Amino acid sequence: MTETFDVVVIGAGASGEAAADLVASRGATVALVEKDLVGGSCAYWACMPSKALLHAAAVRAKGGEYPWPKASAFRDYMINRTDRAYPDDSSHARGHERAGVTVVRGTARLNGRGRVDVTPAEGPPRTLRAERAVIVATGSRAKVPPIPGLDEAGYWTNIEATSLRELPESVLILGAGPSGVEFAQYLSRYGVRTTIVQSNQRLNPTDHPRSSDLLAAAFRERGIDVRTGARAQRVRRGADGERVIELADGSTASGKVIALGIGRTPNVGGIGFETVGVPVKEGEFVRTDARMRVAEGIYVVGDLVGREISTHLGHYEGEIAAKAALGGDVTADLRAVPRCVYTDPELAAVGLRVDQAQEQGIDAVEFTQDLATTAKGYIEEAKGHVTIVLDRKDRTLVGTFMAGPGATEAIHEAVLAVKLRLRIDVLEDTIHAFPTTARAFGSLCAQAARSL
Ligand SMILES: Cc1cc2nc3c(=O)[nH]c(=O)nc-3n(C[C@H](O)[C@H](O)[C@H](O)COP(=O)(O)OP(=O)(O)OC[C@H]3O[C@@H](n4cnc5c(N)ncnc54)[C@H](O)[C@@H]3O)c2cc1C
Repeated sequence: MTETFDVVVIGAGASGEAAADLVASRGATVALVEKDLVGGSCAYWACMPSKALLHAAAVRAKGGEYPWPKASAFRDYMINRTDRAYPDDSSHARGHERAGVTVVRGTARLNGRGRVDVTPAEGPPRTLRAERAVIVATGSRAKVPPIPGLDEAGYWTNIEATSLRELPESVLILGAGPSGVEFAQYLSRYGVRTTIVQSNQRLNPTDHPRSSDLLAAAFRERGIDVRTGARAQRVRRGADGERVIELADGSTASGKVIALGIGRTPNVGGIGFETVGVPVKEGEFVRTDARMRVAEGIYVVGDLVGREISTHLGHYEGEIAAKAALGGDVTADLRAVPRCVYTDPELAAVGLRVDQAQEQGIDAVEFTQDLATTAKGYIEEAKGHVTIVLDRKDRTLVGTFMAGPGATEAIHEAVLAVKLRLRIDVLEDTIHAFPTTARAFGSLCAQAARSL
């Protein structure tokens, strides 16, 4: 029997959940198909457990009482895994059902336009028909670099690195994107000897160099062995059970475990894109138009598109796709996507660096403020910076970069300003509370407005 819905969403991570909830909120029928955990990686193996562990580690670093068993239990509570081997997603699923979404358990595959075949773990296969659209949100998995010996040596992906119940004696983190540096922060704060091996010269290399440098300095100060510009050539097991990475410069780095933090690979395989005429390649993100559409009645959102790997962008894209699928005249506005890393110092960014803006032909200029010399920096004894990039021609903000306390909250004023193409004069005339990182941003805008 075929079950018919207005919209079928494949994958119940943050992106698919947002799409399904929006469709249901508009009174249309929607099936949300999930083969594993409703809630996807963010809820169980990514954002939530990593932020819970970062929180516990930060309390401990400030002298608070947060031993590892308590941190591990808190993380388990956050991912619904208390006293269980695997998380329980039933409350997530119930929330969607209450919102009017039909949750379907099983592995989904497109089978021509508007048809989705579902193979449940148990029971007979099901066929779903989508009258208006299918939204594909099958997410991503940890990228595994093709380093000889890595598979044989074994490694942790984000799943093991965020769900661990026992601490290893030492960890070697391969890659220093947002996940890699967050793993380094909480593991090292719990006494795990931590080494980062990063082929790029900078940590979190898409960020502003000032932010990368501040983070590297903070990590080194706290005893993390940061190896930048270090290319891994081979992995082998050492005599004492350690994993040893041989680097291109002839040196080695080692750890009891290797944790991967080098990026994500989209889950494009086995989805049946070829049955709807959408060309995809294993390992490559899927390209969409501004409405998140890849073909008539087929939308793709979230990590599978991979413009940025973030829950908030996936959520936004999911809602854009849902609105478009229901006939809305919408397009995604991607100029102002916040990029945050929850280390100490916190890193936050939006928009373009000055070099990127100039490459786009913008008459761009950069202003910067050392956060340590602001009231916020003095009071919290913190290092950091606020850097803004302006379009000189129309006096608008095109990018902002921050490192320091409160950066991941303070960035949102810049997010709005970049989105609205707000003139710097408006920011100059805006009152910012003293003493905050937001005020350092406001003062910098005022200084820039006067000197432009
Ligand atoms: C360690 C780590 C920390 C992170 N921290 C943050 C953070 O703090 N803030 C932030 O914004 N982002 C963070 N991210 C990124 C964020 O987790 C992802 O961008 C987000 O979860 C992607 O959501 P998604 O719905 O696109 O994909 P996913 O969450 O991967 O969901 C895809 C779902 O599709 C299902 N699926 C796949 N194939 C099929 C199929 N054929 N049939 C049915 N179901 C299928 C999967 O089981 C999965 O549940 C972090 C990532 C990592 C790795």
